[in-house]
Amino acid sequence: MARTVIVGAGVIGLATAWALRRRGAEVVVLERGVPGIGASSGNAGWIVPSMSTPLPAPGLVKTSLKWMLHNDSPLYIKPRANPSFMRWMWQFYRNCRPGPYDAGMSALVDLNRLTFPELDRMRADGVAFELHSQGLLYVGLKVENVVEAYEHVRDLERFGFAPPRLLDAAEVHRLEPALSEQVTAGFHLPDERHVRPESFVTGMVEWLVEHGCEVRSGIEVKGIERQGGVVKAVQTNIGPLEADGVVLAAGAWSGHVARTMGFALPIEAGKGYSITIDQPGIDLRHPLDLVEARAAITPFDGALRVAGTMELSGLNVRQLQPRVEAIRRAGRTHLANWQDSGRERTWVGMRPLTPDGLPVIGKVAGSANVYVATGHQMLGVTLAPATGVALAELIDTGSSSVNLTPFDPARFGTRLRV
Ligand SMILES: Cc1cc2nc3c(=O)[nH]c(=O)nc-3n(C[C@H](O)[C@H](O)[C@H](O)COP(=O)(O)OP(=O)(O)OC[C@H]3O[C@@H](n4cnc5c(N)ncnc54)[C@H](O)[C@@H]3O)c2cc1C
Repeated sequence: MARTVIVGAGVIGLATAWALRRRGAEVVVLERGVPGIGASSGNAGWIVPSMSTPLPAPGLVKTSLKWMLHNDSPLYIKPRANPSFMRWMWQFYRNCRPGPYDAGMSALVDLNRLTFPELDRMRADGVAFELHSQGLLYVGLKVENVVEAYEHVRDLERFGFAPPRLLDAAEVHRLEPALSEQVTAGFHLPDERHVRPESFVTGMVEWLVEHGCEVRSGIEVKGIERQGGVVKAVQTNIGPLEADGVVLAAGAWSGHVARTMGFALPIEAGKGYSITIDQPGIDLRHPLDLVEARAAITPFDGALRVAGTMELSGLNVRQLQPRVEAIRRAGRTHLANWQDSGRERTWVGMRPLTPDGLPVIGKVAGSANVYVATGHQMLGVTLAPATGVALAELIDTGSSSVNLTPFDPARFGTRLRV
């Protein structure tokens, strides 16, 4: 296979590089900063096919209107009179209907069928990373809120997911003794897993380098050189670099980079925050989904991370203190031995969001060799191996055994300009 240049060393670009290399391709990954500097390091690390649900969902608009009144709520949308943002918001709103939501869920479930097998294949291949398999525990402060989350998850039973069992206060505390007394109910999904995301990124980079690929930091891609619809090189801050094919995997920046390449992609940034505490002195056994706070707590080897919030305020990594405080409060409320230690590390990352809540995976119309892998919203870590494998097959053979039609960039009218 020819030399493929991948733009962006987040989990999606790296997993695509891994899958292409396994097929014998020559791969170069170009990263503007360092691998993982975007959304792929400080996130919660959950591998959760059970969360195969698009972000735009029936009822979301009503809930978000309530949330938007509070600057520390789980969702914040900064009003902007920018035409492309307004268009994106309008499309997002149109997708908050049962029809698109159900179709999106079905497409995500299908792609996620590859998630665990391909994650296992990665490890068997020698990609080394911290992996945990204690499942995922949903917990809440009010029983009715846990029941609501439970009904939402049960929606996936029709796709073959095993039904979870509701746990009362005594059962949930028995399963997870680190919980505070304020937690009154929960339910456990035993098959879900989690990784330490930093180790996932490092593990893939090390594997790629060991297997003869180039992963180059500090190289910013600024466009492509092409003859008609055929790319010959990418333009970068250090000059042109030869390419027989290009994969745009620049996360939340993908819309911006796409414009420099001559096509349009509707990607907005969904900012999220996390706080990581080393040696927290809390023996948490399971990752927790906090149903009221809409936040995540993940235990790693020797560390604990609280993550959450969704802020649509454009491409920026500014930290809003009330939102960091909201995450810290979630940790304090749900864990018995939480202590504000002053040793925490705060992190901000931007999720790449599409208006229909589905990733964009496929070839750009009007081109012979320009591909896109982005828009994985809250599921980039989960979907990275599946995305890489499906796209590598498409690049290598011209078709994929996964149905990539729901993820086709053409659904947004995306086409390389002549
Ligand atoms: C708080 C939070 C918690 C999350 N928790 C989870 C979770 O538990 N499970 C899950 O599945 N997902 C989770 N996610 C989502 C997940 O982190 C993202 O979907 C995923 O990291 C996106 O990966 P990516 O490779 O597409 O983008 P990124 O990781 O952002 O990578 C894109 C890369 O492209 C580079 N780049 C940009 N422009 C250029 C250019 N012109 N030239 C070269 N390089 C460029 C950037 O520097 C960046 O490194 C979470 C996200 C957040 C914010």
